[in-house]
Amino acid sequence: MPDRQRPYWLAQALAADSSPAAPAVRGELRADLLVVGGGFTGLWTSILAKQQRPDLDVALIEADVCGAGASGRNGGCVLTWATKLPTLTRLFGAAEAARLVRASEAAIGEIEATVVAHRIACEWRRDGTLYTATSPAQVGASDAVMRALEAAGLSSWHRLPVDEVQRRAGSRTHLEGWYSPCAATVQPGMLVRGLRRVALELGVRLYEHTPLLALEAGSPAVIATPAGRVRADRVVLALNAWTARAFPSFRRSIVIVSSDMVVTAPDPAALAAAGLAGGTSVLDSRTFVHYYRSTADGRVMLGKGGNTFAYGGRIHPVFDRPSPYAADLARRLRAFLPEFAQTPIAASWNGPSDRSVTGLPFFGRLAANVSYGFGYSGNGVGPSRIGGRILASLALGLDDEWSRSPLAHGPRGQFPPEPARYLGALIVRGAIRRQERAEDAHRPVRAWDRALARLAASAGKADHSQ
Ligand SMILES: Cc1cc2nc3c(=O)[nH]c(=O)nc-3n(C[C@H](O)[C@H](O)[C@H](O)COP(=O)(O)OP(=O)(O)OC[C@H]3O[C@@H](n4cnc5c(N)ncnc54)[C@H](O)[C@@H]3O)c2cc1C
Repeated sequence: MPDRQRPYWLAQALAADSSPAAPAVRGELRADLLVVGGGFTGLWTSILAKQQRPDLDVALIEADVCGAGASGRNGGCVLTWATKLPTLTRLFGAAEAARLVRASEAAIGEIEATVVAHRIACEWRRDGTLYTATSPAQVGASDAVMRALEAAGLSSWHRLPVDEVQRRAGSRTHLEGWYSPCAATVQPGMLVRGLRRVALELGVRLYEHTPLLALEAGSPAVIATPAGRVRADRVVLALNAWTARAFPSFRRSIVIVSSDMVVTAPDPAALAAAGLAGGTSVLDSRTFVHYYRSTADGRVMLGKGGNTFAYGGRIHPVFDRPSPYAADLARRLRAFLPEFAQTPIAASWNGPSDRSVTGLPFFGRLAANVSYGFGYSGNGVGPSRIGGRILASLALGLDDEWSRSPLAHGPRGQFPPEPARYLGALIVRGAIRRQERAEDAHRPVRAWDRALARLAASAGKADHSQ
């Protein structure tokens, strides 16, 4: 595709990665476990399976190169499920909700331990996150969830004085803010390529430029690829936004929606003037959240979800091009950080995010020996480590807290069929945009727009894709 470009982080990571490309599958191959998809979920699954069962012959096939999907192009905000506590409690009960929140916090330490142990150069910075309000209408948006976390004894958050919020966020636009130290930022392309190296070092057999074309269930399952077939006793599908295309039974389990991003040229002087020190991520409280963070080389990246919706779950070419919303994002970035008014935008990109009905990923089995997992809804960098645990346990046939987790019981709801889903998404998106414009201008929001916008919010706030 001539106008296809590698998203900024992945291009940077590939330029720094001297390892040879993995071969494609040719002819007939055999594996004990075949993982399909070379993003965070597939790589963590392979790594965890191999660590628990070094004797297992694990192979991974990836349609493009590892990291070509969401994992190599996200915002690099490594977050937990803490603010999902109310949704988790409603779905799974208080005990499992608390376990999953704690597990999502532990996942950050586990990723960090992997980064340190394997010397993955990925600009990992565990400097916490700030959830803020940037309009009077957003003030108080986090209060209920913070109270719930406090009541459950799970809170890592504290409210900061406004001037401290503005100081840490580098911007006077923030009107309130909650800080948790339990978060990191990372160069995601470098992390995913680092995990690829770890998988190879553990003995995972890797095949790139090898899309799954068809899966024939059975024991072994047979996976057809363009130039060969793999027979595998167990299969894990870690295809994220591409799952529904390969397996149409999942078409109504997710909505595919873009998150769009811009990154500036390096400007350490502007960064110092703004005071945005370290790797703290900053998220406002809109339904379509703005999120920004600095990079280790003195840039600022800003992203926003909820832009391009994909009809029928198709992954359109637009997801591999510069963001159609780059100009708006640049304007937003400079509104947050006027110090960057003259700093050029170095790149923009976007990518498909898999929004589930609950805002949480789901895992399950298509057959006794075929498991799957996706639906991270814009918060997958940290939680994909949990995804890897669940999928490794399912693939290894373990009876543990991961294979027994209610997250492993498949999708928890369906979106309407097309064309209602697409039209509904556009109507809700329009209402949210009008609501945001009104709130930013301190104007009253029309009741109709507020009601429609609530439809998106009621499914549980996604961190990036909504
Ligand atoms: C633009 C954007 C910004 C985001 N920002 C954040 C953020 O800041 N913080 C956060 O926590 N989350 C964020 N997310 C979400 C996060 O990136 C994902 O949840 C996470 O990367 C999912 O990892 P994965 O391995 O499941 O999927 P992916 O990384 O998408 O991996 C799936 C892989 O499957 C491959 N594939 C597809 N079809 C086939 C096939 N037929 N055969 C073989 N392989 C195939 C793809 O090429 C891809 O490499 C963002 C997502 C996007 C799109």
